Amino acid sequence: MSEACFECGGPAVGEYAPVPGGNRKVKLCSACMVRVRHDHARRGRPPYGFVVDGGQLLPVEAEQAVIAKIEDLSLDGCNDGEVARALNEQGLRTRVGAQWTHVAVHRVLVRLKRDRAARP
Ligand SMILES: [Zn+2]
Repeated sequence: MSEACFECGGPAVGEYAPVPGGNRKVKLCSACMVRVRHDHARRGRPPYGFVVDGGQLLPVEAEQAVIAKIEDLSLDGCNDGEVARALNEQGLRTRVGAQWTHVAVHRVLVRLKRDRAARP
């Protein structure tokens, strides 16, 4: 007896980690496996603050909290480098465990602005 597909409840044929290198895996049927893989390849890595789950972007609470902090510091007038330094001083690290840099902070802020602009 096979287990149920995480997506559609059909017979699962394999496991798939929604995040590249992620250790949480979900069981999927062959059709969903193909769909999720395609979707994943199309989207590439999910942006900071999100995971890809079943082809959907789901917010990661801990990362969203860091994003909120980045935005606050930025609104307080900190430049990207100062924000990065503040995060590092608080012991916060990026998804891959690296120190924050002005480039990483900049990327998050640019995406925030773009996402806000895209909303009605
Ligand atoms: Zn399925």
